[in-house]
Amino acid sequence: MRYSPLPGLIDVHVHLRDPGATHKEDFSTGTAAALAGGVVAVLDMPNNTPPAVDGQKLSEKTQIASERARCDFGFYLGATEDNVGEGAILSHRVAGLKIYMGQTYGPLKMADLAALMAHFRSWPAARPIAVHAEGLAVAGAIALARLYSKRLHICHVSRKAEIELIRKAKESWGAEADKLTCEVTPHHLFLTQADVARLGNLAQVKPPLGTEEDRAALWDNLDIVDVIASDHAPHTIAEKESPEPPPGVPGLETTLPLLLTAVADGRLSGERLIELTSENPARIFGLKRDKKTYIEVDPDDRYVLEGSSLRTKCGWTPFEGMTVQGRVLRVYLRDALAYADGQVLAQPGFGRALF
Ligand SMILES: [Zn+2]
Repeated sequence: MRYSPLPGLIDVHVHLRDPGATHKEDFSTGTAAALAGGVVAVLDMPNNTPPAVDGQKLSEKTQIASERARCDFGFYLGATEDNVGEGAILSHRVAGLKIYMGQTYGPLKMADLAALMAHFRSWPAARPIAVHAEGLAVAGAIALARLYSKRLHICHVSRKAEIELIRKAKESWGAEADKLTCEVTPHHLFLTQADVARLGNLAQVKPPLGTEEDRAALWDNLDIVDVIASDHAPHTIAEKESPEPPPGVPGLETTLPLLLTAVADGRLSGERLIELTSENPARIFGLKRDKKTYIEVDPDDRYVLEGSSLRTKCGWTPFEGMTVQGRVLRVYLRDALAYADGQVLAQPGFGRALF
């Protein structure tokens, strides 16, 4: 079909758990999962243990990833109430600044308005500020970006009111509208609160799964969505089945099959899939796309998603049992065959730092 081959996916939102929680995932298994999912580059979030909030932590993380990653990688710098000013020094080494406006998994949370304003004021304008913002916090993030004339990327939009607010903001920003971008995840596009009964703790994510109305609103407003990113956030089955399950689901290997299924069903065009997973991520985060880096898919292959056949260390998927249409056959990274017919061929250390 027309859209095979495709550019490789750039997943701008992953948690590969390295360093700090490598029993869940590490750069080797996480980037093996990426390649199996047709993803050629990942942008990893800063909520490690310890979090990536200064130059030394970034250097240590880069060292680990350089030894273990099989696909290309970049990092976000985490904002804390104490590291205002680091951004101005470190922005050229990262994809963007990540601010957690509200509670989430891990130690990073921005609750102090003065520190939040200081981050927006001092962050260099060239790269985006990526925010975890839910509900009212979305309005706060948009207001701050406007007031300080900064680029804002709103992660994992999940609610009808949120996507409608972002549409309104993009319309009112006029010529500056490209400074405001947003992403949605496959789990918010394909699952709802109704699936929690079936999936139990495995369906616990931040932001939580929405209603059918929320899910429909994301599809209805997909024309103003800039990026689809996995928010790949693996935890072990034992952790998810514990009394206080941590939020997050794996997603690197299921994003593309789900989206190719949407293409097969006529809900998404092949061109739009490429924009959402490759062109826009490259533009927003200033990444060069290489013609020798691409993937080949079989858009007709129908099969059932199974956690047991995934490369992610956690070994499960919230999409277990779902029939999809579209399989990744081969992945070429800088002209090298990195994945073929179910085998990850790129070795740890093949991946390069993007920044
Ligand atoms: Zn996340």
